[in-house]
Amino acid sequence: MNQLEEKSFALLFEGKRLDPVSIDRNMVGFCSKCDSDLESLAYYCTESGWMVSTRCKKDHMALIRYDKQWNWLGDLDLQITQEKISVGDLSREKLEAVFTQAEIRDMLACQQGLPYIRQNVYRARAKYDKFEKLFGVKIDI
Ligand SMILES: [Zn+2]
Repeated sequence: MNQLEEKSFALLFEGKRLDPVSIDRNMVGFCSKCDSDLESLAYYCTESGWMVSTRCKKDHMALIRYDKQWNWLGDLDLQITQEKISVGDLSREKLEAVFTQAEIRDMLACQQGLPYIRQNVYRARAKYDKFEKLFGVKIDI
């Protein structure tokens, strides 16, 4: 699977990492899965032509290949990758800087498939951005 790094828009393609030559946003076609507009996220230049990573409004991803004259060659699968870390891997000190005891308990319970209080997890999720800003880590549960 081809992968797109979320922040840098670097593309991992056939084992190679390609940095974007442009991150212009343009309408570049229609999503093959839902027919809504596909918007470009980043453009890459390769020896054989061009590639464009795209996303539709419903978050379907596609990697479009073109030759050097911008003739369409085909769409490939694309997946976005994020630096995600699960709650259990984070130190208690970091968690406690942002989340309450109850939120931490229920995030862990949610992750482990144990009963949890939904509201605590919702409240915790609302703080993920804050946590990311503080520690540069995206939480995944
Ligand atoms: Zn779509």
